[in-house]
Amino acid sequence: FDADGQLTTTDTSSNTVDTNPVKRLIYLDSAATSQKPIQVTKAIDDYYHKYNSNVHRGAHSLSREATSLYESARDKVSTFINANNRNEVIFTSGATEAINLVASSLSCPIGFCQANNWMCLKEGDEIIITESEHHSNIVPWQLAAQKSGAVLKYVPVSHDGKFDLDTFGELLSPNTKLVSVQHVSNVMGCINPISSIVELVREKSPAMIFLDACQSVPHTVVDVQSLGVDFIAASGHKMCGPTGIGFLWGKEALLNRMAPYMGGGEMIDQVYMDHSTYALSPARFEAGTPPIAQAVGLGAAIDYLDGIGMERIHKYELELGQYLHRRLEEVKGVTVMGPPVGTDRAALCAFVCEGVHPSDLSTFLDGEGVAIRAGHHCCQPLHRALGYSHSARASLYFYNTKEDVDEFVRALEETLKFFRSLDGGVDLDDEQE
Ligand code: PMP
Repeated sequence: FDADGQLTTTDTSSNTVDTNPVKRLIYLDSAATSQKPIQVTKAIDDYYHKYNSNVHRGAHSLSREATSLYESARDKVSTFINANNRNEVIFTSGATEAINLVASSLSCPIGFCQANNWMCLKEGDEIIITESEHHSNIVPWQLAAQKSGAVLKYVPVSHDGKFDLDTFGELLSPNTKLVSVQHVSNVMGCINPISSIVELVREKSPAMIFLDACQSVPHTVVDVQSLGVDFIAASGHKMCGPTGIGFLWGKEALLNRMAPYMGGGEMIDQVYMDHSTYALSPARFEAGTPPIAQAVGLGAAIDYLDGIGMERIHKYELELGQYLHRRLEEVKGVTVMGPPVGTDRAALCAFVCEGVHPSDLSTFLDGEGVAIRAGHHCCQPLHRALGYSHSARASLYFYNTKEDVDEFVRALEETLKFFRSLDGGVDLDDEQE
């Protein structure tokens, strides 16, 4: 998209791939991290060259300017997700830290929250997540359960990626203290029915709801107030921002009842020799010098995305995602994980190819200038449940085009043909005849 928001062909002509410098790079790994517009890298560069200073500290004008840039990035995030107010947005290093922040705080071993704070996890409490979560939304809750004595329960994966509302409803009880689910799966591309999930939780339990919005915030309008959840986490680097920045959004009343996550400068009210008192959110959770340049970069990324329009990005990607899915399903021996063709899905497809290991596939495609991901995508339980150890994944963003998909499918077909021509390779044509 150019400065006027018109769709143009992505100019990746200056990008080269080591193995074959003449090929145009087809970048299909945006679910891992997005490319960065020049507006973002320029904003970071400007910050370091014109405003570099620590925030909230010096009384000098440079520090005030840096503070104002940092805090205006918070305002941008707050408006982008329609938070109630800016104090609900906490900058973290990424979504992983945002989830760990809440999981650690709620299982705080020092009993900061005291027995009368209902939010704290304790023995007899239950946490519900799903088997298809990213490891970042599993391991922090495992640790929290171990520390607090709470029990961790899983909603099983279904092969078509459909969220199992029946089982979820059966797992919910008055003991459920926290539910954490992903908005969009980074493997199956399925979009979870958040309004039905929220409705069930509110009807059957007093639980807080955490939404891992890593794969939705970059691609669609996410309005935290209309979603009705209590916390969300997202990563800046998946939404055109730099690495090292992400955010936690939480309801202010909940955040201000939570134990600090890290101790240090800026998160305190008063420090005495024998104890300290703490600032309110967001400062309470931003100990030490924050990622200032990264926040400024994230602010520029939000301006960039807003300039295109999230509705527009979502619509474009829905169509492109369907196209990718259809084209992949046409390739012999390829199985795409997740919802069937025609179902709304994020613009990503994880897939397996009969007789070819995903790593070999991605290495060969890399030689063709096509960047896809291979592995378990930090979702081992999901892969295990579906009977795979690994998969390949092509994931798109608004800068990809149908031509990128065509080129990918062509390179994939070539690669599969090559593998199947090797001694002992599977000849799918023979098999089917
Ligand atoms: N959840 C999901 C669904 C993800 O896709 C990712 C990133 N792959 C994460 C959490 C973790 O994000 P980060 O590594 O940026 O903290």
